[in-house]
Amino acid sequence: MAGRRPRVGVLALQGDVREHVRVLSELGADVELIRRPAELAAVEGLVIPGGESSVIDKLSRAFGMQQPLRDAIAAGMPVYGTCAGLILLADRIADGIRDQQTFGGLDVLVRRNAFGSQLDSFETDLDVPVLGEPPVHAVFIRAPLVQEVGEGVEPLARLADGRVVAVRREQLLGTSFHPEVTGEHRFHSLFLDTVRAA
Ligand code: GLN
Repeated sequence: MAGRRPRVGVLALQGDVREHVRVLSELGADVELIRRPAELAAVEGLVIPGGESSVIDKLSRAFGMQQPLRDAIAAGMPVYGTCAGLILLADRIADGIRDQQTFGGLDVLVRRNAFGSQLDSFETDLDVPVLGEPPVHAVFIRAPLVQEVGEGVEPLARLADGRVVAVRREQLLGTSFHPEVTGEHRFHSLFLDTVRAA
């Protein structure tokens, strides 16, 4: 249906939830905060925010959300993860805390805090061919890196040295950085296109 408002959620266990709600609302989506399985069942797509992936992991288990999230991803729900959200979408992680788990879905290996303590946070402009011009001004905050990309996973953006910082596979999208804090709306638009098409 052309013009219909997609009904999407932002996983609201921890992290920069409000920034995503603002961007998605500005793009014309109906946005719900998601903390419970019934709330997840009522949306057509989900954003997993940045924050601390180990905390979001623990809270999702405490709230009975891990399995519903895994089921929703397996059933084809469009999901966009930024930073910690990308870590939670990865099938495999490096440098997680003890017993850190993910929801998975993306056949990638993601390394947490990949830039170390010397380079905690930085900003750079990224070419993202799928988004066209202008380049994306990307903010990295204790960011992860995609170290291995499985078959069928499309790298969408790389740092100047070739390291992968954005990926997509079918209805799943992940970025190491935070478009929601810089007024960059195109990744969220791409996510909403996937929701409308699903
Ligand atoms: N370092 C955080 C983690 O491991 C991610 C940081 C972020 O989301 N900005 O989850």
